[in-house]
Amino acid sequence: MSDSFDVVVIGGGPGGYNAAIRAGQLGLKSACIDKRGTFGGTCLNIGCIPSKALLYTSELYEEAREKLPKLGIRTSAELDLSGMMAHKTKVVGELTKGVEFLLKKNKSEAIVGEARIAAAGKVDVKLKDGGACTLETKHIVIATGSDVAPLPGVTIDEERIVSSTGALALKSVPKRLLVVGAGYIGLELGSVWRRLGSEVTVVEFLDRITPGIDGEIGKAFQRILTKQGFSFQLSTKVVGVEKAKTGLKVTVEPAAGGDKSVIETDIMLVAIGRVPYTAGLGLETVGVALDKRGRVVTDNHYRTNIAGIYAIGDCREGPMLAHKAEDEAVAVAEIIAGKAGHVNYDAIPSVVYTFPEVATVGKTEEELKAAGVAYKIGKFPFTANARAKTIAATDGLVKIIADAATDKVLGCHIVGPEAGNLIAEVVLAIEFGAASEDIARTCHAHPTLTEAVRQAAMGVEGWTMQM
Ligand SMILES: Cc1cc2nc3c(=O)[nH]c(=O)nc-3n(C[C@H](O)[C@H](O)[C@H](O)COP(=O)(O)OP(=O)(O)OC[C@H]3O[C@@H](n4cnc5c(N)ncnc54)[C@H](O)[C@@H]3O)c2cc1C
Repeated sequence: MSDSFDVVVIGGGPGGYNAAIRAGQLGLKSACIDKRGTFGGTCLNIGCIPSKALLYTSELYEEAREKLPKLGIRTSAELDLSGMMAHKTKVVGELTKGVEFLLKKNKSEAIVGEARIAAAGKVDVKLKDGGACTLETKHIVIATGSDVAPLPGVTIDEERIVSSTGALALKSVPKRLLVVGAGYIGLELGSVWRRLGSEVTVVEFLDRITPGIDGEIGKAFQRILTKQGFSFQLSTKVVGVEKAKTGLKVTVEPAAGGDKSVIETDIMLVAIGRVPYTAGLGLETVGVALDKRGRVVTDNHYRTNIAGIYAIGDCREGPMLAHKAEDEAVAVAEIIAGKAGHVNYDAIPSVVYTFPEVATVGKTEEELKAAGVAYKIGKFPFTANARAKTIAATDGLVKIIADAATDKVLGCHIVGPEAGNLIAEVVLAIEFGAASEDIARTCHAHPTLTEAVRQAAMGVEGWTMQM
């Protein structure tokens, strides 16, 4: 192993491995260090990928039982949970190995071990297979990601009180599942187990689900999930949990305080968010500044307060999303190589992979109101979209928001089938500074779900034609 580099990246998640790959492409000598043992970070190992594998297979299972008979197909679907888990494990294994291959292909050294910054330009590594080394480098990129946010007073045992990691690997379908937190992770994993047969109750501190997404879309989403069998207790907080012989007794009370009550459940999933992870990196010794929430402080070129040390991904500010980490990775490598790396934070989509999906990009109506920006709205329901009818998936709507004066697209919020794919054209529109009229006058194939996006864009100027 070489011990002198242009760039050493600490963390092998979507931020870290993409930064190392892009640095390699740009002719920089790079290394990527991860302590986990497999590359790909939270995303590939215990996040995006295993959750999406289970979301897909559990959706097929529910479709086979509930939807296909209504469409003239008789089946007798039976659950093989270990087979489902085996599919998940296989996909994770293939993709994590793929990252190692990509690092090698781009001449980046993949090092398995725990890194600690000894000083600017110097990284100590405790190698996983024993031994240690010190790497000299011109630049250090911190991409150490995030960890599960703890719920005060509650100890996660990953058996009965689980984080997302435990919820991705339950050995049997719980009769009752209590999800604490109505964010995307709680709702996705709640969906998996509800489809497989659990009664799912979601307790959320705020008075709404999926905080941060457009309020109208959030309400529509909650209605759809309730119809599917989710039960919600909003404005409620968990204040204690007692392990009984066979289940859990979870004490809750109104968020504003008041009478306590007890919910009995078999498994409790703590999904109240994620916190930046920088423990053991030696940041205090080197003097790298953190903000109040423990995130590494950087300027808009991802530079920390210490020359030659950068940070990207979940461990710095911004949405904790794999593609945000990936975009910052490309930008930081390009900046280090002397190019003009840049991320447009107004054009970062965010998707909840339930059924139907929720996808959003840009500003919400609430944000625009608060900022005093005059806007126009176009909406289109999937009940009026021909393709949605043919696939029997008509729940939801598309909402496009454009600037009242210039017609520039400011945001798009979708709850509906394939929302995660549909949002891509609006992300591109925002990236290009397009007007809603550009989308409305662009030909969209018929019959596709994309026509719902076009009809919503037509609605901004009041000429929706298919409703
Ligand atoms: C259940 C779940 C589902 C998710 N689904 C999605 C989704 O669908 N879409 C999406 O965009 N995002 C999703 N996310 C979020 C996504 O996983 C993160 O935003 C993303 O992984 C962040 O990438 P990162 O590179 O910043 O950090 P991470 O992926 O967390 O990688 C950081 C890596 O750094 C390593 N590390 C830390 N400290 C050291 C050290 N001292 N030395 C060596 N290595 C170290 C860790 O082992 C880790 O592998 C999900 C997360 C979870 C938990």
